[in-house]
Amino acid sequence: MTTTHSLDLVTRDACVAADAADPLASFRSRFILPEGVIYLDGNSLGPRPVGALERAQQVIAAEWGEGLIRSWNTAGWFELPGRLGDKLAKLIGGRDGETVVTDTTSLNLFKALASAIRIQQVDQPGRRVIVTERDNFPTDIYIAEGITDFLNSVAEETGIRYEVRLIDAELTLDAALDGSTAVLALSHVNYRTGAMWDMAEVTAQAHAVGALAIWDLAHSAGAAAVNLNGADADYAVGCTYKYLNGGPGSPAFIWVNARHQERFWQPLAGWWSHAKPFDMADAYAPAGNINRFLCGTQPVTSLAMVETGLDIMLDADFTAVRVKSLQLTDLFISLVEQRCASHPLELITPRDHAARGSHVSFRHPEGYAVMSALIARGVIGDYREPEVLRFGVTPLYLGYADVWDAVEILRDILDTSAWDTSEFKTRNAVT
Ligand SMILES: *Cc1c(COP(=O)(O)O)cnc(C)c1O
Repeated sequence: MTTTHSLDLVTRDACVAADAADPLASFRSRFILPEGVIYLDGNSLGPRPVGALERAQQVIAAEWGEGLIRSWNTAGWFELPGRLGDKLAKLIGGRDGETVVTDTTSLNLFKALASAIRIQQVDQPGRRVIVTERDNFPTDIYIAEGITDFLNSVAEETGIRYEVRLIDAELTLDAALDGSTAVLALSHVNYRTGAMWDMAEVTAQAHAVGALAIWDLAHSAGAAAVNLNGADADYAVGCTYKYLNGGPGSPAFIWVNARHQERFWQPLAGWWSHAKPFDMADAYAPAGNINRFLCGTQPVTSLAMVETGLDIMLDADFTAVRVKSLQLTDLFISLVEQRCASHPLELITPRDHAARGSHVSFRHPEGYAVMSALIARGVIGDYREPEVLRFGVTPLYLGYADVWDAVEILRDILDTSAWDTSEFKTRNAVT
């Protein structure tokens, strides 16, 4: 293992001093974290904001319990997807009226892909390829394949065929994009490696061949600088339960560039996407705004939780968040390389700051058992196939000394082979 960072002077005391000087240190008190836990999995499920409990009590006891159905009007339930969307938009370079918080990332990706394909059918007929990455998060590939499969089955007798083309070791992005490409759909930050695409550059590349660009921000919203309008992206989707701390399974978001919003309606056009849902009209008339990307009745209790997390994020100076994120991931990498040098850990996260999101991943032949042993010692990261130890770094509630302590526990587990038990090798349903 090579060490390109020289942090020989780093000691735990130096980390503690860095925490004391940290302009973001006060944010830690806005989250609940159990005693004895170093939480390195905020990229998978963010911890609970302190205010979430009070908000849940308000929604459940007052708005639901007392307000009953009146709360759709009196508690602002009906406007929640757009109101939260406007808040979230500030973190991703969106403008008011371009984002709704709704449904799941998978469903929102379906809507975005379907809309982009409709636009291309009219603007540039004959483009029938969705380009994505073999290394993308599985749902992103499954949804793209689901759409092409559906289109092909419907058009079976016409001979028209849609196709998913995967960028991989054999096929570079440059080679994958051509005049047949309808849509390029990528994850901004790779869920496994933490590698980040240059959104502006890649979007321009897609546009240069006439393709539309859809970005999945699951691992970058709230974690890295995102500027959708600055990059002139076409669509974006992402989660709120990861870096945005909205709670388990909290609704996702979809952002649509204003120029596309009223071109077509997406096929999951349920009554909530209607211009006047409560007219109960026979004829469908799509909403003349981003509500067109809603489907049906929203999960209000879960949706309401999203706001507490967003409000914390919006109070933070995002430049400071990104600076600290890179410092913490740098520190993590160099400490592991110094302190665990004799063990077979292979960094799979880019060292280049511009190409790195906010998590660090190492391969280890016994990755699953090592992660289980870490979790048993209170260092909660997660395991991803194949053999990947994944550590999310979240600047609002993690400090420099936390990183130091986590790496020391990792070193101890490796030095003592504490991972080498049948208990730690037994797989759980969720990893
Ligand atoms: C976490 C994640 C998802 C999750 O999608 P759900 O519909 O919320 O289950 C999708 N895409 C990427 C890139 C992710 O990291």
